[in-house]
Amino acid sequence: MLGKGLLEGMGITLKSFFRKKVTLQYPEVKLTMPPRFRGGELELDHHKCIACGLCAMACPNHVIRLTTGTNEQKKRYLTSYVYQSGLCLYCNYCVEACPTQAIRWDKNYENARYFREELDVDCLELSLQKEAEPAVETEEAATLPRRSAG
Ligand code: SF4
Ligand code: SF4
Repeated sequence: MLGKGLLEGMGITLKSFFRKKVTLQYPEVKLTMPPRFRGGELELDHHKCIACGLCAMACPNHVIRLTTGTNEQKKRYLTSYVYQSGLCLYCNYCVEACPTQAIRWDKNYENARYFREELDVDCLELSLQKEAEPAVETEEAATLPRRSAG
């Protein structure tokens, strides 16, 4: 039949026109990443960390630099923990290697920086800072500037 293709095309256009819109008005509206999203920067919970160094050892690219100390009870603790996000392969080996689930992805996909050294994240400092700050709304927290290790 003549014009069949045209009618089919119009049908698809009309169907799409009434379908639920999937486009987000970024950057005003941000996408919520699914729980299994692997990306952003590493977030450390210093309370859970036992300073075993397994995450750094598991990293194929030597992205995690950490130093440890020992207290009076001969218990190891972190003295520094720097994650160089610019070198990260997002392989997730570090997260899988951690026996206490002390590190996880922050799911923030807006990590562009002007300077390379700003890609180094002082995870220990951020974790301590988070503890010291009063609880803020999730949306507000997402817009807080992140401190680099440089
Ligand atoms: S995701 Fe992979 S490359 Fe990145 S810090 Fe973890 S182990 Fe290293
Ligand atoms: S593997 Fe986990 S517990 Fe061990 S040093 Fe890394 S973050 Fe801390």
